[in-house]
Formats: sequence, structure tokens, C-alpha cells
Amino acid sequence: MSQKLTSLIENLLTTDSSLSFDPKQLSRFMLGTEGLTYFEKKQRNILAIIRLTQSHEIKALLDLANHCATDEELAFSLYPISTGNNWGYGTSQPAGTAKNIILLDLGLLTDIKDFDSELGLVTIEPGVTQQQLCDYLQLHNHDYMVPVTGAGPDCSILANALERGYGITPYTDHFAAVNSIQGYWANGTPYQSAVNELDASDDKFVDKTFKWGLGPYLEGLFTQSNLGIVSQITIRLAKKKADFTSFFIQMDDDELLEQAVPLIRQVLQDYEGIVGSINLMDQRRLLSMFAKNPKGNDTHQVMANQDIAKLAKQLQAPNWTIVGSIYGSVGVVKAVKKEINRIFKQLPCKRIYSNSLIIVVANKVIKYIPSFLVNRVPPLSVAVEQLDSFNKGKEIMLGKPNKVALKLAYWRHKETVGFDKNKLSPG
Ligand SMILES: Cc1cc2nc3c(=O)[nH]c(=O)nc-3n(C[C@H](O)[C@H](O)[C@H](O)COP(=O)(O)OP(=O)(O)OC[C@H]3O[C@@H](n4cnc5c(N)ncnc54)[C@H](O)[C@@H]3O)c2cc1C
Repeated sequence: MSQKLTSLIENLLTTDSSLSFDPKQLSRFMLGTEGLTYFEKKQRNILAIIRLTQSHEIKALLDLANHCATDEELAFSLYPISTGNNWGYGTSQPAGTAKNIILLDLGLLTDIKDFDSELGLVTIEPGVTQQQLCDYLQLHNHDYMVPVTGAGPDCSILANALERGYGITPYTDHFAAVNSIQGYWANGTPYQSAVNELDASDDKFVDKTFKWGLGPYLEGLFTQSNLGIVSQITIRLAKKKADFTSFFIQMDDDELLEQAVPLIRQVLQDYEGIVGSINLMDQRRLLSMFAKNPKGNDTHQVMANQDIAKLAKQLQAPNWTIVGSIYGSVGVVKAVKKEINRIFKQLPCKRIYSNSLIIVVANKVIKYIPSFLVNRVPPLSVAVEQLDSFNKGKEIMLGKPNKVALKLAYWRHKETVGFDKNKLSPG
């Protein structure tokens, strides 16, 4: 990067923001989970990384990029990341292969700017993670759920919404829950909705409550596009309900899938708004969370059906697992649980509910079993691990982030055995 461009950028950054070309730092952001490095034509490059501490610097940088665009020596592009954990979809690597891309890290913009406790509307900057929002809600005793995803505590809420991410709390479609966006188009023009401009109140309350605004809906252009950079969003959070149970329906016969899918659809249609979402998992998906890869962790080999059958027998993993959640008052949860039981009774399957006596008792008993015994008796350690994952799955459905799903990304990782499962980070 030229000295001239370096000074131009440094001159517009505030004291706590930084520009770095340190190869060690840059290489950390080139660690994708997608294997792009194996393809010559797909190699990504970054010139430098800028870490911002003030959101107004976004505009100054976009203006500079536009100003330099026609100068061969100075031209550069900006690729924004919020937390850069877009695992499986690029991680923090730029979407394009140009050689003059500067990564714009917005992860230090972590202000929770406003919270309306009556309506559950929260206004956040790009770097606010699932864990930070969770801590904030807990600290202030706000009974709302974080829109968590399987990607876990260290991921940005804003970036996941812009990616049109999906979760298993009641507001499953994360972009649908975005009521208002502020940011900048690529040419540096600031964006706020027409309602925001008309709204004379200090807190821009109308804008934050009314997703569709006036005239053509432009905010969708910010999603999965890199047409602009978003500096803050306001999202609706789902309120915690008085009661909850998750359900796990296990089927031991592949042939039952065809009959199960219409039943899942029926539950989602009949209990819309009460049953959050339903996950349908096959045996491979389940085993990758509990089993050790018998081919060895560094081997890129698809598992044969016999391997799967052997592992499934050892770990008592069903062919298909249907996982869902019921939210509501005590009476509603009880009634819908009964209905789901009735609907699935027509199939030979096992139905487990997180509020059933067996799970409640198992959780109590397991606390008293000494860990040396758990480690020495394999069936016991499997049972403990499965119960732990079951409980963590329940936490996610209740809007509390954790890393339980990240193990999925480590099935073929050579060092997977030694990893602390609470510190996983696939990138
Ligand atoms: C095991 C596992 C489970 C997962 N589970 C889920 C899941 O349940 N649901 C789900 O949706 N995803 C899931 N993911 C995918 C992904 O990891 C998440 O969506 C993650 O939240 C995205 O990373 P991020 O939030 O750090 O976004 P970033 O990497 O920061 O950004 C994502 C994209 O948005 C753009 N962007 C970021 N910030 C801005 C901004 N301010 N303005 C404009 N554009 C911006 C970036 O350029 C990038 O293209 C999972 C991944 C793994 C490995």
C-alpha cells in the first residue's frame, strides 16, 4: 500500500481507530472455513485492516474511497465485517478477488444505543454480539430473548440480520425483525428512512416501530449485497413467555421420513406463533455432534453407511430427529404439547420433552455423579454429553447463546480432540 494512501487514511481516523498492515494480523482474517486457498482463482487478498471506533468514520472512509477510485495508485475498496464470523459463507474474507481491498472491521462499535422495554425494540451497532446483548438484557432484567443462532455468543446480531440469518427463537427470520436501518451507501450518501427524516421526535420512535416506512422499501438493498455499510439497526426482540418446553421426536426408520414431513408442516401451520420452528436432523448431523470421526479427524472421506450404522448403534442415535419448541402460557404449552403428542403418535417414534419428569430427574441425578466415574464409564459419559447438548439446545431456544452447535464444524479438523468445546471458533 502506498505511503500516500496510508497517510490519507491515517489522517481521517480518530485516535483510537487503527490501520494495520501487519501480516500476522491480516492472516488471521484470511482464515476462511471455505477452503478458498486451495483454488488459485479464488484466492482472497487484503491490503490492510482498519478498525473503527466511531461510526462517523465510515462516511469519511467511503468518501476517500470514492475520491481515490479513478487514481490507479490510490484506488481501494472497502469490505466491511462486523464480527467476521460468517463461517461457511466467506468467514471474514472479502466477497471479491481484487487485490486492493481493505477490510473494515466494525467489531469495536459495540454500543447498545437504545432499548424500549415496553416493546422490546433494541438499537445496536455492528459489533454488538449475541453474548453482549444477552448480558445487557440480564443486567437490566428485561424479559426478552436474544435472536441467537447456532453460530454462537461471539457473532454480531446486526451482521447476521443483514445476512438474512435464521434462528430458532420465536422470531426465526432475523431480517424480518429489523424495523429500521441507518448507514451509508457505497457512494458515501447517508441512509435513513423517509419516516426517520419526517419523525421530529428525539428518539425517532415512529421509525423504530414501523418496518415498511414510506415509498419503495430500500432497506433490503443492504442485505447480502455489500452495496452499503450499515452503522446501526433497530430490531424487535421476542418477549420471554411464562412457560416453555422443547420437544425431541426420534424415529428409527428412514422410511418414516415421508410421513413425518407433512406432520411437521401441520404442527407449524396449526400452532404458528406458539411452536417457534422445527429442525429436522438426520443421523449424520446428529453423530457429528456426539461421535468421534472413525476415519480420523484429518481424513477427508465420506462416511459409508456401515460406519454410520455402527456409530449410531453405539450412541443410540435415531435415524431422524425432529426438534422444536413450544412457547406460551402454562395452559397453552400444556395443550400444544398434548396436541403434538397426538399428532406424532400415529408414527412409531419416541417423544421427549424438556419439561418431562425423566429429563428433570436426569438433570438432578447427574449433578451428583462424580466426574471420575463419568470419564471411566463410556455409556455414562455419552449420556452426560447428550444431556448437556440437550440442555444447551434448550438454552438456545430460550435466547441464551452458547457454542454447542460449533462442534459440527470440527468433524474433519485434525486437532479436534484436544479442543475445549467452550472455546470453539471455526475460522
Ligand atoms: C456451526 C455453525 C452454525 C451456524 N448456525 C447459524 C444459524 O443458526 N443461523 C445463521 O443465520 N447462521 C448460522 N451460521 C452461519 C454464520 O456463522 C452466522 O450467520 C454468523 O453470524 C455470521 O457472521 P458474523 O455475524 O460475524 O457476520 P460478519 O462476518 O461480520 O458479516 C457477514 C456478512 O455481512 C456483511 N456485513 C457485516 N457487517 C456489515 C455492515 N455493518 N454493513 C454492511 N454489510 C455488513 C459482511 O460483509 C459479510 O458479507 C452458522 C455457522 C456455523 C459454522
